Amino acid sequence: MTPPKEPSFRESVDLMFNRAVALMDLPPGLEEKIRVCNATYTVRFGVRLRGQLHTFTGYRSVHSEHMEPVKGGIRFAMGVNQDEVEALAALMTYKCALVEAPFGGSKGGLRIDPRDWDEHELELITRRFAYELIKRDLINPAQNVPAPDMGTGEREMAWIADQYKRMNTTDINGRACVTGKPIHGGGIQGRTEATGRGVQYALQEFFRHPEDIKQAGLSGSLDGKRVIVQGLGNVGYHAAKFLQEEDGCKVTAIIERDGGLMDESGLDVEAVRNWIAKHGGVDGYPDGKYIRDGSKYLENECDILIPAAMEGVINLTNAANIKAPVIIEAANGPVTAGADDILREKGCVIIPDMYANAGGVTVSYFEWVKNLSHIRFGRLGRRQEEARHQLIVDELQHLDNHLGDKWVMSPDFKQKYLRGAGELELVRSGLDDTMRAAYQSMREVWHGQDNVTDLRTAAYLVSIGKVAASYRALGL
Ligand code: GLU
Repeated sequence: MTPPKEPSFRESVDLMFNRAVALMDLPPGLEEKIRVCNATYTVRFGVRLRGQLHTFTGYRSVHSEHMEPVKGGIRFAMGVNQDEVEALAALMTYKCALVEAPFGGSKGGLRIDPRDWDEHELELITRRFAYELIKRDLINPAQNVPAPDMGTGEREMAWIADQYKRMNTTDINGRACVTGKPIHGGGIQGRTEATGRGVQYALQEFFRHPEDIKQAGLSGSLDGKRVIVQGLGNVGYHAAKFLQEEDGCKVTAIIERDGGLMDESGLDVEAVRNWIAKHGGVDGYPDGKYIRDGSKYLENECDILIPAAMEGVINLTNAANIKAPVIIEAANGPVTAGADDILREKGCVIIPDMYANAGGVTVSYFEWVKNLSHIRFGRLGRRQEEARHQLIVDELQHLDNHLGDKWVMSPDFKQKYLRGAGELELVRSGLDDTMRAAYQSMREVWHGQDNVTDLRTAAYLVSIGKVAASYRALGL
């Protein structure tokens, strides 16, 4: 049987955009202006490695410049192509608008399998790619600020930041040219886990709304919910770990490149992650049922499905078999437009990518602000906050001494209350607030507008509305 025809990733994003924009009343031409990708730069460069010249192909796509700098990760993967980076850049525009990070949307990619190269070779390749982008202002603190994505992390971001510094020795704001840097290279606490943490905060917020939980046919809290996660990379690992350790969820299946693991009584996320680090995959892990075609586990019974790997994994071939009542898109574009129609029809609640994985860019925003202000969050206020708390604690202590056993301070109150917020606490607080506010803006449209029946359309309506407002303010 020939598989059903799916649109490309970019077409899929456009279809979803069109579905939403049809419900809006935008001035003529603006719809088209917002949808199209402004520019995509393709570069082919050579690096001499292992005694010969190797040519690599990379992209940086700028979807919308209604706000600058534009923002979005750089991925290293063999599947990178123009259609993909353009789809991802468009999602960045909508994502930033939805969570009110003051950026336009961009994305980059390099067609490479990082596992084919050793660290030193990767550094040479990354620096050369960065050089090509920097000299065209496609990496620049005021114009275009990349971040990690699939196949890249803080190591690559540190190389990019250093490359920028070498080429712009007098730019005092140079560090803000890229986010997701290591903490000792101008990064911020909490960025590495930010996307996974954001997925957790998104689910926590979803479970604060009984009406929404009911709509998915679920009840109660996150405690005891069965979770399936696809992809135990940076995003999937942190989301699954936090949900398991802090919210009482049971991770009943983990799907990786080389297969899937299942255990209805719950897999130990940390142990599986350690196994993968040691053995390169999940095969052979002792505590779980392994199958080679891990994607079959996407179709298992569960309460929450977290696709955290890549685009297009829930598509026309498997959408009808998906049983999860809630899907939270930790990856970008894991559900195709066709699959989205089928799942919506079935009553599945999809918490869409542009919201669900926005934790990464939210904390990137904080890092960028930190770099531009040249000071760590909390540095000025922390001790002052502690001193004021000390005043209250002393006063309460006074009461405590006088009232005897009529009133006793809780044992850990003093310690907890006295501690002023450091950078990590502030980052978490800002991220939590952002995820709550963005969810509420989506659900207001979801429940408040008769012609909106799903969260994805609601998310598009909110973000397109914001982008349109910026364009209007610019006089476009
Ligand atoms: N690559 C991440 C994303 O898709 C993060 C982007 C950023 O921090 O700029 O959202």
